Amino acid sequence: MKNDTYETIIIGAGIGGMICGCYLAKKGQKILIIDQSDAVGGYCSGFVRNDYYFDTGVHYLGGVRNGLLGEILGELEILSDVSFNAFDPTDTIITNEARVNIRQNYNDTISEFLELFQDESVGIKNFFSFILMNDLHIIYMKTKRISFSQILDLHFKNSELKRIFKILVEGNLGSGLNQVPAYIGIELWREYLFDPGYYPEGGIIEFTKAIEEKIIMHGGSFLLSEKVNKIQICENSSKYVFTNKNNVFEAENLVANIDPFQLSKLMNITIPDIAKNIDFTPTPSAVALYIGLDQKANKILNDASCVWDYSNNINNNAHSHHSIRAGALIFSPSDHNSKHTNNGTIQMHCLVPSFNLEYWEHNQDEWRTFMKNKLQKYIPDLNDHIMLEVFATPQTFQKYTLNEGGAILGRKLSMQNKKRNHLFISNKIKKMYFTGSWYSYGGVSEVAISGKRTARILLEHQ
Ligand SMILES: Cc1cc2nc3c(=O)[nH]c(=O)nc-3n(C[C@H](O)[C@H](O)[C@H](O)COP(=O)(O)OP(=O)(O)OC[C@H]3O[C@@H](n4cnc5c(N)ncnc54)[C@H](O)[C@@H]3O)c2cc1C
Repeated sequence: MKNDTYETIIIGAGIGGMICGCYLAKKGQKILIIDQSDAVGGYCSGFVRNDYYFDTGVHYLGGVRNGLLGEILGELEILSDVSFNAFDPTDTIITNEARVNIRQNYNDTISEFLELFQDESVGIKNFFSFILMNDLHIIYMKTKRISFSQILDLHFKNSELKRIFKILVEGNLGSGLNQVPAYIGIELWREYLFDPGYYPEGGIIEFTKAIEEKIIMHGGSFLLSEKVNKIQICENSSKYVFTNKNNVFEAENLVANIDPFQLSKLMNITIPDIAKNIDFTPTPSAVALYIGLDQKANKILNDASCVWDYSNNINNNAHSHHSIRAGALIFSPSDHNSKHTNNGTIQMHCLVPSFNLEYWEHNQDEWRTFMKNKLQKYIPDLNDHIMLEVFATPQTFQKYTLNEGGAILGRKLSMQNKKRNHLFISNKIKKMYFTGSWYSYGGVSEVAISGKRTARILLEHQ
């Protein structure tokens, strides 16, 4: 039985936990990061099956050069350890009537919108000049009471145009547009305009590995393949963390990078004891199809990079049963990565509610067919080229991270939370801190920012 003492223990080696840990270790803290998985990164990692490399979830990083993610990676001296490829176009959004590309140069992106929706040119120019304003504080003050859906209504009439904005916002934040505060939707779109679309050479796993290596270089430690199954807080505020392998660790500070449902059970407290005013309703989960292709089918998505195909041209019973919009995100890791080009790979995600196992037993085939039918548009005779096929349900995602219902982006945003409602530090438990998507919101940039802020607050309290 191990029984070591640390200044800080972080539970969960997702990006939020690791960025927080990296700042702490850099400051010389003795830290331990514990994860139940045998690899770090949570949803931001990759796997190899039959020589095909896939990204588990994250397939795209924004803000790497000019945004806050880049600033963090620069401060931690990680930026130069990873070689990033930039997409152009970064994203292609396809609806029934439109096809728009997000480009590296935002003037090109705006031109595409203007060309496609000529009747809306005044609204488009006004909208983009407003969201591109230098002073974020003015944007915040002007929009803090309205939802992203309201700001779209103020500028546009065309429903197909609004749908394009909606697809990227809902796809990245997992919340309905009328529940996304306008300034959060705008922040996301600013990232799409200023600094979109990067992919690490070697796959997302290389990004995650670089953070892991930096933490170890600063003297931080990891304990993998061990699940925390109990947390005990003593009166003198020492924290004891128990794992499923009968190890117990002691720390002065505890950082939770795990979902609040699990955390409340581990600590034997209620969810309002963690945070009274935060609504932790989980975002949707996802189904994913990972496909390994033969060499002939390779590079078919080459010019399309990250495709959000929300055209409803395919009749999908699986979708219509549950009134989910027939949208899918399609990405080809092998097209953007010279390290893994031997075999072509495609991955495809659809947002879904967290249906139970029984649902997937009965409906999995229907979903596979729906997804493959959509893919046929990009890879003719797809079935003749498939060498490997892996299907993941919300249960797979939940197993991967233990996130409630396999929620892919933590908690849903809500207009009830007028303030940002980030949670970094406990009001009730001394030296207990939070980070990651459940305590801010989802996406690598956002959880990295939360990791940095949590570290800063923790260090200020020392
Ligand atoms: C399919 C999919 C696609 C996505 N695409 C993108 C994208 O392209 N770009 C983007 O920016 N974001 C994307 N996201 C969102 C992004 O992955 C997440 O918002 C972000 O990675 C969450 O990081 P996190 O630090 O909150 O923790 P998580 O990744 O949720 O990790 C939590 C960690 O805690 C560990 N853990 C949980 N409980 C315990 C316990 N009891 N004991 C020990 N360890 C525990 C888990 O094993 C896990 O490693 C995607 C997500 C998914 C699922």
